[in-house]
Amino acid sequence: FFITVEGGEGAGKSSAIQTMIEVAAQRGFEIISTREPGGIPIAEQIRGIVLDRANTAMDARTEALLYAAARRQHLAEKVIPALEAGKVVICDRFIDSSLAYQGHARGLGINEVFSINRFAVGDWMPQLTIFMDVLPEVGLARIEADLSREVNRLDLESLVFHRKVREGYLLVAERFPDRIVRIDAGQELEAVLQKITEVLNQKLPG
Ligand code: C5P
Repeated sequence: FFITVEGGEGAGKSSAIQTMIEVAAQRGFEIISTREPGGIPIAEQIRGIVLDRANTAMDARTEALLYAAARRQHLAEKVIPALEAGKVVICDRFIDSSLAYQGHARGLGINEVFSINRFAVGDWMPQLTIFMDVLPEVGLARIEADLSREVNRLDLESLVFHRKVREGYLLVAERFPDRIVRIDAGQELEAVLQKITEVLNQKLPG
């Protein structure tokens, strides 16, 4: 069972994933939790290139292609084998990040970015996507308060960019209503995690 977790900066994806691992474990599933871009050496190397603050000349299409390439490698090397072994895979970011960030916020077009990503993922789409929705102002304030977090190229984008990312996610959520569940991640943590527990218990097979 393939689950992805999506959302803008500071939405609380990490705490959501912790809770999801616990819920799935209680239900007796074997779980792997992984992240994008990265999760395996080749994809972590690509992550290093895309997120390097020094790479200010990065073209938007190059960026989209690099994310798709990292996604393919991670999928082929790690996600597909785990799914084929019957595990629950929880992936921090997947195709919807590309649709929201590169497709909508960078202006490449959601359809265009979807098509290069379909080439990358084939039919391996998530069965459930948890979209952690928070106002960018709130998310960015949380990040600034968290000194342990590594700063990357995307954190330096303007509030306008992060608003577009959210708008992109909302469009993508409308487009894939069967798979994407929107969680109000602006609520207090306890309520957010409670909601995620309910959704997961309802959606997990068996
Ligand atoms: O979720 P995490 O903070 O690890 O994501 C790393 C960075 O990659 C984030 O700043 C996110 O905005 C960016 N990203 C992106 N486009 C994607 C995937 C991630 O800009 N398709």
